[in-house]
Amino acid sequence: MLHGNQIRLGLGRRKGDPIKRFWSKVDKTGSCWVWTATTHEEGYGKFFVDGKHWQAHRYSMHISKGLDPNKPLVCHTCDNPPCVNPNHLYNGTVKDNKRDEVERNTTNKYWKRNR
Ligand SMILES: [Zn+2]
Repeated sequence: MLHGNQIRLGLGRRKGDPIKRFWSKVDKTGSCWVWTATTHEEGYGKFFVDGKHWQAHRYSMHISKGLDPNKPLVCHTCDNPPCVNPNHLYNGTVKDNKRDEVERNTTNKYWKRNR
């Protein structure tokens, strides 16, 4: 299994601190911290680290506040896709807007089933 070990070692150590590298691509002069490197078509920043591509705002959340596995989306309060300011970001679910509704429905089903 020498081959597997070689692959693991190869990916494990990259030069430089990815977090420093990340912030070096961000323009913090405004209230929105704008990603200045490569972006997706939708305007979200793209950041490559540890062998995978991150959306820049997701990575910002990951290194600042941590990602909530139960809320896979990272949403903007400022509606500015290239913004990576953690204070403008929050963890959300796909149906976060409809969360109240979903919870109500779930509750209703629960009550119906267990009445
Ligand atoms: Zn913003």
